[in-house]
Amino acid sequence: MSENIKVVVRCRPMNQTEKKGNCQNIVEIDEFTVSVTNPSARRSQQKKFIFDSVYNMKTNTEVIYDEMCYSLVESAIEGYNGTIFAYGQTGCGKTHTMQGDENLSNSGIIPKCFDHIFETISMTTNVRYLALVTYLEIYNERIRDLLNKNENTSVINHSLKELPGIGVSVPTLTTQPVVNANQCYDWLHFGNKNRVTAATLMNKNSSRSHTIFTITLEQSPFFNSIGLEDAFGGIRRGKLSLVDLAGSERQRRTGAKGDRLKEASQINLSLSALGNVISSLVDGKAKHVPFRDSKLTRLLQDSLGGNTKTLMISCISPTDINYDETISTLRYASRAKNISNKPKINEDPKDATLRLYQNEILYLKRMLQES
Ligand code: ADP
Ligand code: MG
Repeated sequence: MSENIKVVVRCRPMNQTEKKGNCQNIVEIDEFTVSVTNPSARRSQQKKFIFDSVYNMKTNTEVIYDEMCYSLVESAIEGYNGTIFAYGQTGCGKTHTMQGDENLSNSGIIPKCFDHIFETISMTTNVRYLALVTYLEIYNERIRDLLNKNENTSVINHSLKELPGIGVSVPTLTTQPVVNANQCYDWLHFGNKNRVTAATLMNKNSSRSHTIFTITLEQSPFFNSIGLEDAFGGIRRGKLSLVDLAGSERQRRTGAKGDRLKEASQINLSLSALGNVISSLVDGKAKHVPFRDSKLTRLLQDSLGGNTKTLMISCISPTDINYDETISTLRYASRAKNISNKPKINEDPKDATLRLYQNEILYLKRMLQES
């Protein structure tokens, strides 16, 4: 069964600078549509976009979680892959949406996932879960392991590998086992601190990097005294990827030279590659989808036209000064709506065969006991 990527829009409130600068609100929102007025057009000219849901400046993250993320996370617990990614111009609320604010008074989607997952797991009795987390950053087409404390001073570029049954992954990343939501928070904070330290040391701008936090949930049926509980056929492995993308705004020409120039041209490579992948998937004309053009698109390959349940949250500003970027974000998001995925539970067929034999042994044992 195929299903389209879900795409929602969230508009943040005006910030202090916009208020002080007497900016105009040009965004109107109802349940499924965003209308944006062109501030420089002589006559009022509105562009309208339709999405799976649209959230205004008063909506808090909890509502978005309940409406759009809850069932996706439930699926990941069942063994599907799920991806939630935040897209948009810097300062429009990607990190606010994904992580929440620092004082945790307004918690984001990632911490809500932790709570949800461990609450559900703790209530499940016939299945044993192994939960693992990783946290990486892509900056300038290099992958950095945010859970390795030695990597805030050295630049290690991890490579990607395509593993059968698992997809594209980064095998050398630090993988941390976790048994409760608190341990997940701790690793998230550890990674964030590591990211900030490295950004300061290397004089780089964190709005130019992408981060991906993953939680893998491996489940196997419990053994009981006579064999296996009859839960399902193999080992299931759901993976939830939580992605905070770099700011989508166009880069200004800064007259950079040498390394700086190389850096500037590489920095948004992943984002433009993502745009090309989306276009190519939506047109359906190209035989070849350019996933291999960037690290980000390779890592998101399964989430775009693959076997994953995917949610894109596009963050926008409400004001006239950001008109061009807002329109560009909404266009990008509109195109992504047409991508169709075929989600399926990840079950290891080797384990499924093993399970078949185990069942047979169980059956023969029972026959022996009864005779
Ligand atoms: P981004 O990650 O897209 O660059 P941030 O999430 O850092 O943007 O948001 C920039 C600022 O705006 C932060 O201070 C954040 O708390 C605030 N903000 C963003 N979205 C909202 C929102 N929906 N409600 C309240 N404040 C928000
Ligand atoms: Mg951010």
